[in-house]
Amino acid sequence: MKLIYKRVLLKISGEIFNEGHKSIFKKNIIQSLVQDIYFLIKIGVEISIVVGGGNLFRGADLSKLGVHNITSDYIGILSTIINGLFLKDIFQKFNIPVCLVSSLYVDSVCNKYNVEEAKHLLSKSVVVIFCGGIGVPCFTTDSAACLRAIETESEIILKGTKVNGVYSQDPKNCKNVTLYSKLNYSDVLNNEYNVMDLTAFVLARNYKLPICIFNLNNHHALIKILSGEKEGTIINGD
Ligand code: UDP
Repeated sequence: MKLIYKRVLLKISGEIFNEGHKSIFKKNIIQSLVQDIYFLIKIGVEISIVVGGGNLFRGADLSKLGVHNITSDYIGILSTIINGLFLKDIFQKFNIPVCLVSSLYVDSVCNKYNVEEAKHLLSKSVVVIFCGGIGVPCFTTDSAACLRAIETESEIILKGTKVNGVYSQDPKNCKNVTLYSKLNYSDVLNNEYNVMDLTAFVLARNYKLPICIFNLNNHHALIKILSGEKEGTIINGD
């Protein structure tokens, strides 16, 4: 199989773990993704993952309940660590070498983030799961994804979502919508397409880091993207 990317960073939001169901985790949803990653690792792709926490807690939701903003964000950060532990366990069950690294130090369950160590692990075909966001409040795991992708010299950030990519308009509200296969950074900014939070997006643009928005539930979506097949929307170029 011809690969168009060798080192990639996958961003998965917490909501992928439960798909809106009542239970916090639905294991089967994530299993097909892990199987694809197993295959990709075997053929030499280096994969890191930034995991979100939205299935458990988001800072903004807690603030609305009257919890202090900063405390709310730390609760959100801790929820990404819970998801990281869950994801690590699944990788281990598939015998995939994996290392859980956190930006917020919880030494008994996660390694501390260190960029050189992360790059070394990636070069040894270990899946590196980054949790704890960037370790401080007022950010999101999209920012963590862009930052870690830049630091680890990943070639692209793959943002797994519940939609097939970026549409001209919201397909839920409009009939005649276009699903873009390619966009440049300014198209996204000028049209205010909501691909990720603005801080994260501007960081990716400034470092010319390509972004792919794709549907994690599509069969073998990751494999298709890495082999250059049409899947999702690629954002790249001024
Ligand atoms: N968060 C934070 N700093 C970070 C990353 C995350 O404060 O560097 C908090 C923030 O409150 C956020 C929550 O953790 O709402 C969960 O992360 P996110 O919303 O990015 O999760 P996702 O939507 O991707 O599941």
